[in-house]
Amino acid sequence: MARIYNFSAGPSILPLQALEEAAEKMVDYEGSGMSLVEMSHRGKIYDSVHSETISLTRELLNIPEDYDILLLQGGATLQFGMVPMSFLKEGMTADYVVTGSWAKKALNDGKLIGKVNVAWDGKENNYTTIPDAKDLNLTKDAAYIHICSNETIGGIQWQDFPKTDAPLIADMSSEIMSRPLPWDKLDMVYAGAQKNLAPSGMALIIMKKSLLEKARTDIPAYLQYATHAEANSLYNTPPTFSIWMANLTFKWIKSIGGMAEIEKRRDEKAKLLYDAIDGSNGYYRSPVDAKSRSKMNMVWRLPSEDLEAAFIKEADKEGLSGLKGHRSVGGIRASVYNAMPKEGIVTLVDFMTKFMEKNG
Ligand SMILES: *Cc1c(COP(=O)(O)O)cnc(C)c1O
Repeated sequence: MARIYNFSAGPSILPLQALEEAAEKMVDYEGSGMSLVEMSHRGKIYDSVHSETISLTRELLNIPEDYDILLLQGGATLQFGMVPMSFLKEGMTADYVVTGSWAKKALNDGKLIGKVNVAWDGKENNYTTIPDAKDLNLTKDAAYIHICSNETIGGIQWQDFPKTDAPLIADMSSEIMSRPLPWDKLDMVYAGAQKNLAPSGMALIIMKKSLLEKARTDIPAYLQYATHAEANSLYNTPPTFSIWMANLTFKWIKSIGGMAEIEKRRDEKAKLLYDAIDGSNGYYRSPVDAKSRSKMNMVWRLPSEDLEAAFIKEADKEGLSGLKGHRSVGGIRASVYNAMPKEGIVTLVDFMTKFMEKNG
């Protein structure tokens, strides 16, 4: 079996250890005579996996007790709507920081529900930079401030989080569990699972109880955060396969040394790649502001679109897959999630050097 280096933005690479353990147990889960994904979600076996997944989330991210951890369906996209439906009540305003495509999608759902204020918009420089906290035009007594901490398409990332008066809510889909998080600044974090945690079909939501208590209760049951918090994310049938895979991913993270080791590896991989871009005498060019560069989704350009197409095609032949930039922006994008080994980046950088020598 030959595993390739998969740089796809999502669904994306998962830890080999997690895939192998799932494969081994897929047909007969620990002598039960059936698969975990065939079992009742009310049974003892599934319940222990479910509860352990939630407690591992708390342990790895050092989440304080006054936050609830929810595992819901609908991906991150449902959260674009659920957040304003719950918190953007009549007479209130929500602040949105527009840093790129994903932040804009969240804003658009917010607009459908209530009054929004664009606290900052990066359109002027084509969404290549993260704002300074002092440049945010925030509303007094806002219902919340929404940011996208890592723009998966544009390749920019908040390195620090602002300390805000209103609750800060962050879409962290493409960077969740890649660094420790400052819970003194974040009131809610949500993430689609398929970038850094598990297969698609799930969102991880971490929410301060004091925020949850402010949510509307006159909306359908599934759309109320309290429904899920009260039922430990077992109100209805949860996405059991995604939760099991997240469990295996978390065990892998724990086995290698937790968030500190994950962050160290992330920084190492990002440095290797950005050094290769910066050291290419302009052959490879990062279009984003240096201080806003994402350490998960790296984007860069070549001297022409023809060369970019050739780069993607040849890289694919070398087992470096998924490097095509998002169709809306073009160029190259390497999504370097937690499960990508350092050897993947070393191989990519080596390929970049050879490609430049041949086509420079
Ligand atoms: C992928 C992504 C989403 C959408 O996630 P779904 O789970 O497909 O709904 C939202 N926000 C960001 C930042 C993403 O990278």
